[in-house]
Amino acid sequence: MENAVNASAAGNGGQIVIAGAGYAGLHVALRLTASLRNNPAVELTLVDQHDYHQALTELPRVAGGTRAADAVRIPLQDVLAARVRFVQTEINGFDLAGRRLLTGAGPIGWGRLVLALGSRPNDFAIPGLAERTLSLYSASDAERVWAAAGQALTAAAAEADPERRRRLATVVVGGGGATGVELAGELAEVLPEVAKSHGLAPDRPAVQLVEAGPTILAGSSPQLIDKAARILTDLGVQVRTNAMIAAATEEGFRLTDGQLVEGGVFVWAGGVKAPELVADSELPTGHNGRVKVDRYLRVLDHPEIYVAGDLASVTDPSTGHVLPSLAQVALEEGETVARNLDAELKGRPLAAFTFHDKGFVVSVGTRRGVADIAGMTTGGRLAHLLKDAIEWEYRQSVKHLRGWDPVAR
Ligand SMILES: Cc1cc2nc3c(=O)[nH]c(=O)nc-3n(C[C@H](O)[C@H](O)[C@H](O)COP(=O)(O)OP(=O)(O)OC[C@H]3O[C@@H](n4cnc5c(N)ncnc54)[C@H](O)[C@@H]3O)c2cc1C
Repeated sequence: MENAVNASAAGNGGQIVIAGAGYAGLHVALRLTASLRNNPAVELTLVDQHDYHQALTELPRVAGGTRAADAVRIPLQDVLAARVRFVQTEINGFDLAGRRLLTGAGPIGWGRLVLALGSRPNDFAIPGLAERTLSLYSASDAERVWAAAGQALTAAAAEADPERRRRLATVVVGGGGATGVELAGELAEVLPEVAKSHGLAPDRPAVQLVEAGPTILAGSSPQLIDKAARILTDLGVQVRTNAMIAAATEEGFRLTDGQLVEGGVFVWAGGVKAPELVADSELPTGHNGRVKVDRYLRVLDHPEIYVAGDLASVTDPSTGHVLPSLAQVALEEGETVARNLDAELKGRPLAAFTFHDKGFVVSVGTRRGVADIAGMTTGGRLAHLLKDAIEWEYRQSVKHLRGWDPVAR
């Protein structure tokens, strides 16, 4: 592993640089490691600000205190072969003409670049939101949410005024997508036990889920939405739909209809957008700042740059919609990018990206969940086990890819 780079590497045609070691970038690195093992002339470099990969899909468990933060940080040195040069540094910008990444460790030149920098929470320019809410986009964020919930309950237990106690013991989650639903469910299930240990009545902690649209889990089947809503209600989560936040103030979320949603902890899980450094670049961007790509996942007008994961704006021809920001999309795009880079090196034609939807699974609390798979909706214990299995399988695939043999494809 390295934390400094040779600035003279600019524009080296044999250098593939992967920016971001998340679901998409790590997948590209692992697959290329295998396919390039007999091609030492090609340098493979992976750049990330952290020396670990984060299993983001497991963050709601960390935020709910049922999993340690370190358990979702996978050290890159454990999964990368010596073939990959890893550079731990922050990427600050792009020199597109000079084919260089601008980083805290100096410029890093590329022959081919893979952009896989993920996304950031989107506050939709709602006043006060960025300053007054916690987010859930890293293991550290999740630790902060869990710590804040514990501190709020400690403060509630010490509070004599019942109205203030009620307010302090309330966690408010903004955004009723999958992340908001998973977080609200997890907290609703575990906080009563925490409350008991603080001498508070177990029914004292409250979790509110505030969603601007008419339903939670927008875009999912009505059956799945109904099952998820029932489990949340059973767990005691107060779900408020058609509740658009106008501002986050000292008192709480002020809704557009004037109502105030009060609480002791506020978490924003209402959407994501592309990182600022992409918005500030000359890369062609579309919805939420995601980078526009061709069907081979190359940046429009920059065929030497591929994009995969949340950062890529890829339209699904079967629906006409841009694919959602999901780990399964990131992994499939990473696979296409790795194949296309390999194809370029071997003079083979590129493959167009096609998304194969494996279904949608959301955990709701620590024991139940909902799933839409192959047109079937399930809710309850089975769906939660499915979510566990997907996370386990992902970790296994990372280990497996380390020793992946492309000849056996
Ligand atoms: C709480 C939560 C729960 C989720 N649950 C699910 C789920 O159940 N199922 C599902 O399919 N999807 C889920 N997702 C979405 C999924 O995690 C993302 O779609 C996926 O992580 C996208 O992969 P990516 O490789 O594009 O980005 P990421 O995995 O976010 O990786 C981006 C990488 O780039 C690095 N990086 C970013 N900027 C810089 C910089 N300037 N310099 C250096 N390095 C940088 C980051 O450190 C990171 O390693 C969830 C997301 C969250 C936040």
